[in-house]
Amino acid sequence: MRIVESPNHDERPPGTELSLVVLHSISLPPGEYGGEAIERLFTNCLDPQAHPYFREICALKVSAHFLVRRDGSVVQFVPVERRAWHAGVSAWRGRSRCNDFSVGIELEGTEEAPFEPAQYESLISLIRQLRDTLPIRDIAAHSDVAPGRKTDPGARFDWARLLAALAAQ
Ligand SMILES: [Zn+2]
Repeated sequence: MRIVESPNHDERPPGTELSLVVLHSISLPPGEYGGEAIERLFTNCLDPQAHPYFREICALKVSAHFLVRRDGSVVQFVPVERRAWHAGVSAWRGRSRCNDFSVGIELEGTEEAPFEPAQYESLISLIRQLRDTLPIRDIAAHSDVAPGRKTDPGARFDWARLLAALAAQ
C-alpha cells in the first residue's frame, strides 16, 4: 500500500469506537481514470487551471483514509486513528457526524459505470484487515449517510458481491 499524506485530518473525539466504513466513489476529472488529480485534491494541490471542474473543487479540504484505484492498488492518505474529512454532514442509525466514527474508503470510479474486479478484491481484503483491529459493525454508502446530498458510490456498486465475500470471510 502506498502512503500519500493528506493534511486534511484531525483528532477523533476521545474514546470513539470506529464502527462504520463509508464507501465513496470519485474520479477526477469526472469519468477519467488514472492520473494524479485525486491525490492532488486530497493534498490540497489540485491545479485550478488544469480542468474547469477543478476550479470548483480545488479549495475543498477533503480526504479519505483509503483510495482503491481501478487496478486494485490502494493508497492511504490518513492514518485510521485520525479523523479524515470524507462524509461531511452525515448521519448513520441516528448518529450524526459520521467522520467521527468511520473509516472512509474511496473507489476510483463513477456512479454510472461498474467497478473493476480488482477493486472488489482489494476492498474486501482492506475491510477484512480493518475488521481484524476495529469494531466495524456496518458498511454504508456515502449516499446512505448523506441522503439527498450525495449519491456515491452509485447504483453500479455491487453490494451483494461485497457482503457475500465478507460474510464468507
Ligand atoms: Zn462520497
